[in-house]
Amino acid sequence: MHDHRQLGRELDLFDTDPLIGAGLPYWLPDGAAVRHALEEYIRGEERRAGYRHVYSPVLGKRELYEISGHWSHYSDDMYPPMDLGGGEQVVLRPSLCPHHAVIYRSRHRSYRELPLRMAELGGMYRAELSGVLGGLTRVRAIQLNDAHIFCTLDQVAEEARGALEMIRRAYRALGIVPARYRLSLPGADGKYVAAPELWQRSTALLTDVLDRSGVAYEAAEGEAAFYGPKIDVQVADSVGRESTLSTVQVDLHQPERFGLHYTGPDGAKHRPVMVHRAVIGSVERAVAHLVEQHGGAFPAWLAPTQLVILPVSDGERPDAEALARRCEGLGLRAGTAGPERGSLGARIREARLVPYQVVIGPREAADGLVAVRLRDGRRLEACPVEEFLGRAGALVGAHSTALWDGPPSAHR
Ligand SMILES: [Zn+2]
Repeated sequence: MHDHRQLGRELDLFDTDPLIGAGLPYWLPDGAAVRHALEEYIRGEERRAGYRHVYSPVLGKRELYEISGHWSHYSDDMYPPMDLGGGEQVVLRPSLCPHHAVIYRSRHRSYRELPLRMAELGGMYRAELSGVLGGLTRVRAIQLNDAHIFCTLDQVAEEARGALEMIRRAYRALGIVPARYRLSLPGADGKYVAAPELWQRSTALLTDVLDRSGVAYEAAEGEAAFYGPKIDVQVADSVGRESTLSTVQVDLHQPERFGLHYTGPDGAKHRPVMVHRAVIGSVERAVAHLVEQHGGAFPAWLAPTQLVILPVSDGERPDAEALARRCEGLGLRAGTAGPERGSLGARIREARLVPYQVVIGPREAADGLVAVRLRDGRRLEACPVEEFLGRAGALVGAHSTALWDGPPSAHR
């Protein structure tokens, strides 16, 4: 495995500048293309799974976090409040949950609306010490793939199971192999909210979901959120260090703190449960892991440049440029590299991380064909442009990790 910090800089994905500040990376165009593809994938998956997306501000009044419990249990990781005068203080949010709880509470809710799945790819902030910051894994500004499912106690297991299935599907599309599943439980120190019977119920629910899912997992004490236990999906970095990428949490605490309720079939008010879940966790950590896992050779649907078009000589340049425009029209990210960039061999080496390297010589240009070399070294026989674009576009559209779906010389 590679170190994502070094590779991220070499591949022009992201960087940092002391003037912006430690732990505050910026994304260069190629990194932004990867991130955009990842965010669009997640939003699409969430829409299909019945989530509705919201936006909420990255700031909130101090009182919001006093109610949620972050202020008393999590303030070491929070930025100091900003004084706006008149006794008003706002803070950069350490999580999205309180905003979503307030959005839930803003309308009357009936049992018919449950489970209510609210998703947001939103910013949150952690006041890390500068000594521990680096790359995309230890940052001070985080874009979280977050969602909260408000549901009845009876619906929790099914919702947690659905979230776990989304995580497993995303890992297949991203080519991620988890290091382990962990059931994270509270420890002996005092940073957890007290309410033993709520903890026991949440833990029993998550244990049941894990047991039924058939994945092997380990229980770990001292790793829970302050408000409840969680399922964590752990991944390992280039030196074998584990971190949490995805989580599913059952929270009986915050609905009580925010006084959430829904009207049941009996006409009475009932308390919903909050299931917190993140499929790819933070966008920063997910991209860091993808860079290390794939060494920059991303699955085609994520690659910053999906096709590089290589005219053999200046004579094929117009055909190459026309093909690049056609790819863009199909939503594929394409670039050209002409003879001014060196020999064909040198250009292919330079584009070694690009999934599809499309060569156009005089014969191909005359016959409307392309000769394609896959990143893994396989060569496809010269085939009509239409056919190649159709098959490559279908694999990209399906979020496949395969570069080609047939034998390399299938075309006659
Ligand atoms: Zn949450």
